[in-house]
Amino acid sequence: MKTTARVVVIGGGVVGCSVLYHLTKKGWSDVMLIERDQLTSGSTWHAAGGFHTLNGDPNVAMLQSYTVSLYEELERISGQSCGMHKSPGIMLADTPERMEFLKMTVARGRYLGMQTEIVSVKEAKNYFPFIEEKYFLGALLDPNEGHLDPSGTTYAYAKAARLGGATIEVQTKVESLEQKPDGTWRVITNKGVVECEHVVNCGGLWAREVGRMVGVELPVLAMEHMYLVTDDIPEVVEFNKSAGKEIGHVIDFGAESYLRQEGKGMVLGVYEQAGVPWSPKTTPWSFGQELLQPDLDRIAPSLEIAFKHFPTLENAGIKRVINGPFTFAPDGNPLVGPVQGRTNFWSACGVMAGFSQGGGVGLALSNWMVDGDPGFDIWGMDVARYGDWATRTYTNAKVRENYSRRFRIRFPNEELPAARPLQTTPLYDTFIEQGAVMGDSWGMETPLWFAPSKAEAHDVVSFHRSNDFPHIKAECKAVREAVGVTEVANFAKYEITGAGAEKFLQGMMTNTLPKVGRLQLCPMLNQRGKLIGDFTIAKAADERFMMWGSSQAQVYHMRWFEQHMPKDGSVKITPLGMKLIGLSIAGPKSRELLQRLTDDDVSGEAFKFMDYREMEVATVQAKVNRVTYTGDLGYEIWVAPEYQRRLFESIMQAGKDLGIKNFGMRALLCLRLEKNFGTWFREFRPIYGPFEAGLERFVKLDKHEFIGKAAAIKEKQDGPKKTRVFMVVDATDCDVMGDEPIWVDGKVVGWVTSGGFGHYVNQSLAQGYIPTELVKPDMTLEIEILGERRTARLQMDPPFDPEAKRMRM
Ligand SMILES: Cc1cc2nc3c(=O)[nH]c(=O)nc-3n(C[C@H](O)[C@H](O)[C@H](O)COP(=O)(O)OP(=O)(O)OC[C@H]3O[C@@H](n4cnc5c(N)ncnc54)[C@H](O)[C@@H]3O)c2cc1C
Repeated sequence: MKTTARVVVIGGGVVGCSVLYHLTKKGWSDVMLIERDQLTSGSTWHAAGGFHTLNGDPNVAMLQSYTVSLYEELERISGQSCGMHKSPGIMLADTPERMEFLKMTVARGRYLGMQTEIVSVKEAKNYFPFIEEKYFLGALLDPNEGHLDPSGTTYAYAKAARLGGATIEVQTKVESLEQKPDGTWRVITNKGVVECEHVVNCGGLWAREVGRMVGVELPVLAMEHMYLVTDDIPEVVEFNKSAGKEIGHVIDFGAESYLRQEGKGMVLGVYEQAGVPWSPKTTPWSFGQELLQPDLDRIAPSLEIAFKHFPTLENAGIKRVINGPFTFAPDGNPLVGPVQGRTNFWSACGVMAGFSQGGGVGLALSNWMVDGDPGFDIWGMDVARYGDWATRTYTNAKVRENYSRRFRIRFPNEELPAARPLQTTPLYDTFIEQGAVMGDSWGMETPLWFAPSKAEAHDVVSFHRSNDFPHIKAECKAVREAVGVTEVANFAKYEITGAGAEKFLQGMMTNTLPKVGRLQLCPMLNQRGKLIGDFTIAKAADERFMMWGSSQAQVYHMRWFEQHMPKDGSVKITPLGMKLIGLSIAGPKSRELLQRLTDDDVSGEAFKFMDYREMEVATVQAKVNRVTYTGDLGYEIWVAPEYQRRLFESIMQAGKDLGIKNFGMRALLCLRLEKNFGTWFREFRPIYGPFEAGLERFVKLDKHEFIGKAAAIKEKQDGPKKTRVFMVVDATDCDVMGDEPIWVDGKVVGWVTSGGFGHYVNQSLAQGYIPTELVKPDMTLEIEILGERRTARLQMDPPFDPEAKRMRM
């Protein structure tokens, strides 16, 4: 066995072999895969081998599309067959909501170039003849699906990697990992030690155990999964003969099942409601190429529905039942990328659909390792989207929930209940008493809107405007005409201190840093000049800065900061988490309210827009930002959690005669929309440059050096290729949700990033991106909402306070 390598990949399932292949394709040939048993020995060997390109996250869908397109290349290079059967897939809708979901899915696929279409149930029978028509309303047809041989495909990756110079050691178990002071690794196996620069965890069913070797608890859990293979079915043979093709793939939402042809029979797999985790604490190292005991009773309710929907199958004999474990992250998407807090330790785990996603995971990870950047927007599968709040038992609850919802619709206003409430602020119970409907913001409970009573505090889930509509309107009106108060705890907050703090931060941010007592909006770019952050920074004192960013991105941002911080101890960056939480007051009467709570002068002259001040509010020591995301006059007041309740009660008391009202996250998002403010991970993502995103005011190209400057200069010189646009939509009872296609002159030219109803301006609003050369003031476009193309008008100025007087008043 070799004793050194540039990279050691742990695990020879489909994912490890794909990572290995892609590393060689990028030119790193000194790479080695270590497998404790044989290749495919984890979940890979007993997979049903189905593949498809559809995914709720368009960026993950693109990587799935890449995976599917890779197999021909792989067969060509390796000479090894992947056992491909390409056959169209259909998704069957049995309720009006599922039909709307399919229409939305087709629309979302358009700008990705997907060829999906809505077909009638009759047409669907051309691909799957066993449908009992009366149960269904329609179907989605996806020509780009199929199934393959899981072992053949894994060996094809392995062979192609070997041809590129990689080595593979089987029957070799990695027993522990030791990091050397220079950041390189000693990989200790039962057959000796390998010294390497990078370690990649592709441990599949044992991903947690490999993570634990470096003190990391990865949020992955294996679930038992059953599919059955039928005996030969004469009608299958008959269809093959008469139609001259295989039976297509099917997803039946109602039966929570997938089906496809296998030989002369069928495969039928089920994501049952009562799913069972496998090895919830530790995966036994003794587990080999084994199957688990089938339990048909568990999937019987789904089978009953499937047999009703497809009566031909009811009489088919069952040849075998496969029950095998495979892993999921809490949201069902993979965990890919460098692990924050560890050097040169990479994750490619939690891949629940290895044959749809394995290629994309390998491509993204190898780009990241070789070029320092994944090359795509892979936020949806970045390992950094989970923090340490995603414990083992949290993961258990969420994975079971996700498994049971695999074929369920998630409505845009639907909150999922498992493992909640998790993180709460001191005001949680108060808000519940006051009628708050709470949402889960990456583990943190956040008020979404306030119902008039506790009894009415629930969402009626829908793609259409729902029961929250009049209440959000009232919240927006209170902010615009008097004063509103909202909790703003779900931000990431950081304190950056030290003699090197200013130099370090300045080198990260496109905008110049503020002077003491002032705030500045600061986008952050990667080396390719794409947006990877958007912060509000305050200079609190010399060598001390406060910074606010997206809460979801805290681990993602900390990983970036740690990679770029000076190693000499001159900078300390501390994420404050729940140590600093806040309330924001906003609206024309917010200044008067604040003045009633402090003896500091907060007049417009003394406390200006974008000022930062540390002062006492309601007897509490607070950090106050004169800015709010509502685009109105307003203040963010940040305090230690033990004072939050006093602050809230004082604000409510002092604001009573000013007409104060609670407002929630949904009203906040609506108010920011009326000002055309973008949000992180919707308008601002690593696929956009700052000029494309309309952030040029915050990019100073002639003042200082920062990461991504050269690329930003180039973007400016060449002109942004696409432009973030603001649109007023002719919608009826359904506003945009995000990811809808934008049409101009009968062609899809762009996509919506976010939108909703602007309650105060009384208009349906949307933001999105279209090619710059198409942008014309007041031009007409169309946005496809739930399969219907609605007229929209491009508007250059925001509908509320276009001159931005309110924020500055
Ligand atoms: C019943 C069933 C049906 C499925 N159907 C489909 C389907 O139709 N389509 C689809 O895309 N996916 C399907 N899947 C999921 C698919 O199997 C997984 O997505 C895929 O196998 C994950 O591959 P992996 O490489 O991440 O993990 P694994 O296959 O689990 O591979 C991990 C490997 O790492 C090795 N390893 C772990 N720790 C060490 C160590 N310390 N030292 C050395 N080696 C180590 C293990 O031995 C193992 O070989 C199905 C799964 C099941 C169970």
